[in-house]
Amino acid sequence: MDFAFTEQQELIRKEVASLARSFPADYWLEKDNSAEYPWEFVRAFAQGGWLGCIVPEAYGGSGLGVTEAAIVLHEICAAGAGTSGASPVHFYMFPPMPVIKHGSEDLKRRYLPGVATGEIVMSFGVTEPNAGTDTSRIETRAERRGDRFVVNGRKVWNTNARQATHMLLLARTAPRDPAHPFAGLTLFFTPFDRAKIAVKEIAKLGRAAVDSNEIFIDGLEIPVEDVVGEVGRGFYHLLDSLNPERIMTGIEAVGIGRAALERAVQYAKQRIVFDRPIGQNQAIAHPLALAWAKLETAELMCLKAAWLFDGGRPCGAESNTAKLLAAEAGFEACDVAVQTHGGYGYAKEFHVERLFREVRLYKIAPVSQQMVLNYLSEHVLGLPKSY
Ligand SMILES: Cc1cc2nc3c(=O)[nH]c(=O)nc-3n(C[C@H](O)[C@H](O)[C@H](O)COP(=O)(O)OP(=O)(O)OC[C@H]3O[C@@H](n4cnc5c(N)ncnc54)[C@H](O)[C@@H]3O)c2cc1C
Repeated sequence: MDFAFTEQQELIRKEVASLARSFPADYWLEKDNSAEYPWEFVRAFAQGGWLGCIVPEAYGGSGLGVTEAAIVLHEICAAGAGTSGASPVHFYMFPPMPVIKHGSEDLKRRYLPGVATGEIVMSFGVTEPNAGTDTSRIETRAERRGDRFVVNGRKVWNTNARQATHMLLLARTAPRDPAHPFAGLTLFFTPFDRAKIAVKEIAKLGRAAVDSNEIFIDGLEIPVEDVVGEVGRGFYHLLDSLNPERIMTGIEAVGIGRAALERAVQYAKQRIVFDRPIGQNQAIAHPLALAWAKLETAELMCLKAAWLFDGGRPCGAESNTAKLLAAEAGFEACDVAVQTHGGYGYAKEFHVERLFREVRLYKIAPVSQQMVLNYLSEHVLGLPKSY
């Protein structure tokens, strides 16, 4: 057993930390206030070659694994960028995964090089208002007409839609069969045609810089060449991006927790009340120490799941557990950081309130804590399915 990073992983960690830390907390405060997409940050990561991290070398990327992608996202978040910095970057990392694993050679050649350079900006169209977590109930339909599909329907929480050039889209191509509810869904990687897709932004709790939207698809035409893998097996192809997504978002939550903890510890050393630094009180110190311990544990689970995925081993239980523990640990660290700052924790100027708002997301998305516990109850413990 070896818990050490390789030399290459250590180098990635250092380089990304240095690049991410060149964007100070005030940059993110400004982006949050103005709700402007952080293009300068994304371009800096494109120039550094980081966006093509998981794209195979044959298609212009670096051919690295989910472990390295997780290291990149952790350092972005630990630098204080929060979800505002991590989300735009992670869209280059897990949505292309089904294309890499199941896409035709033609699809890979047409799209992956653009993902690696950052020219292609992706959105991920799975969630729908009437289906929620039960993806088998999505109602967006793609009907085959000759050499193309025509798509009509509605998606919700489509992140990045205001910027996207392309979308990974899941749609029904055959009626739902209760015996096989996840069959008959097809995955497409296709240009985001604004003549056929209307976008309505959702005002939300955090990450104002990165838009989330309702989208209305009306007669979108998709050539058959843009189908990812097999028609009717889209949900199963999508699964190859869901475990990486859980690992990556999990480690983002750890990184955000670390950024908040770093600020809180600094503050606890400097803030004098009753003639002593507040960190001298165990009521302040212990929650910070506990938050540190929980972040360490959650990170270990994220890295174990990434290691399993990269080794081609099953990692459903570990990826779900990683997301579960990381979302809790990240949230607790940010909450403790706000508390440590007292009233100033509520002020934007001290930055922990932004991290606190942003980290809350991971208990809900990409999969809720309850659904993770459902998965573990059923698939790990063998308990009867409850729903
Ligand atoms: C900021 C943001 C960005 C997002 N970005 C994207 C994106 O880019 N693309 C995309 O496709 N989706 C995206 N999502 C959607 C996200 O994945 C879903 O919100 C999430 O999976 C939960 O689905 P829902 O909101 O429909 O909740 P629902 O399915 O309506 O569930 C509501 C609540 O009930 C609970 N619940 C439901 N059924 C059960 C059950 N059987 N047992 C126990 N509890 C249950 C859920 O856990 C949840 O707490 C995003 C969401 C947010 C908030």
